[in-house]
Amino acid sequence: MIVQDGDSGEDARGYGTAAMASMAQFKVAPTPRNYALWYAYHAGRDGKLAAAVDLLIKNRQEFNERLCDELYDQFVSTDQPQKVLSEIGHRLEDVVGRMTAMMGEAEQGTRRYGERLERFADAAEGTTEKRQLQTLVGQVLAETRHALTEVRNLETRIDSSSKEIASLRTNLDHVRREALTDALTGIANRKLFDFQLVEAARVAIDGEVPLSLLICDIDHFKQFNDSWGHQLGDLVLKLVARVLAEGLKGRDLPARYGGEEFAVILPGTALDGAVAVADQLRRTLQSRKLVKKASGEDMGRISMSIGVAAYRPGEPLSRFIERADKALYTAKRHGRNRVVSEVMVDSLQPLGEQH
Ligand code: GH3
Ligand code: MG
Ligand code: MG
Repeated sequence: MIVQDGDSGEDARGYGTAAMASMAQFKVAPTPRNYALWYAYHAGRDGKLAAAVDLLIKNRQEFNERLCDELYDQFVSTDQPQKVLSEIGHRLEDVVGRMTAMMGEAEQGTRRYGERLERFADAAEGTTEKRQLQTLVGQVLAETRHALTEVRNLETRIDSSSKEIASLRTNLDHVRREALTDALTGIANRKLFDFQLVEAARVAIDGEVPLSLLICDIDHFKQFNDSWGHQLGDLVLKLVARVLAEGLKGRDLPARYGGEEFAVILPGTALDGAVAVADQLRRTLQSRKLVKKASGEDMGRISMSIGVAAYRPGEPLSRFIERADKALYTAKRHGRNRVVSEVMVDSLQPLGEQH
């Protein structure tokens, strides 16, 4: 996103005012996306965006919705799921438009058929002549066949639109899942963690059940990266994610919290239970020998430190996280490769920094 926090208030106001003026001038709806687009244009940080928009203005191009969306996707959005979502949005609009038109057609067809039937009925009432009645019956049959064909036609088109909607829904699910998954490790990302923590706290309050949180940080990971390289470092991150995912069950949610930090939400688990889970995870990771696949070289073992906190119903989540963080910090200070709970923090605190 080009609307940067780094812009000074005065600059931001200037770009914002210019963006609003341009949107009014080019009759662009002032949606947040369009605002971001025109703000970025006026902030002038992206030469390619400026060149593209200037050319479009020069050519008196109409800045319709689709063009603005395309510009946004190309120059402003850095978010791939955003692009896919916008595409899905357009396709959904199309298909909904087509469905609406088909409903209108169906309604018209039914009305037309009803009117014709009424006319035939009137004509039939007015005659007793066999031949005329035969002709009328023939016309009714022809009309009915025609109406049936139209209905079948419509059915086929509705069926194909329904299939398209089903496929769009699958795409949407996919994008949603992808947007909430950490690309490297395949477990939940920070965004999903944030959502789930809010939900878990709500359940804990409503159901008066415990809720605990682990924050795990790999020990001396920088050293590992420096010795073996970032790529092998990434494999370690994957290993840690696997250890967490395989060592947890049911509603427990492991997530990549930051670069080499992981967090685990443990619904329905009190502090003692959470400490036991954490220690089990820590042991499992420590038990894994790291061997370089290509050469068979022994890379030693990796460990993690874990801070554990239990939710106090109603407290701000930031405070809950802070306690787990503090416990983690204490675990680091007391030698790493250990689990520290929030209740141990004060008794362990006096120790100085250890490496
Ligand atoms: P400590 O035991 O105190 O946690 O030491 P540390 O070296 O693990 O901690 P520090 O915060 O000093 O360094 C974290 C390192 O994690 C820095 C960076 O090299 C590494 N790191 C963070 N994210 C990634 C990543 O996505 N891939 C890889 N390979 N390394 C990462
Ligand atoms: Mg760290
Ligand atoms: Mg670390």
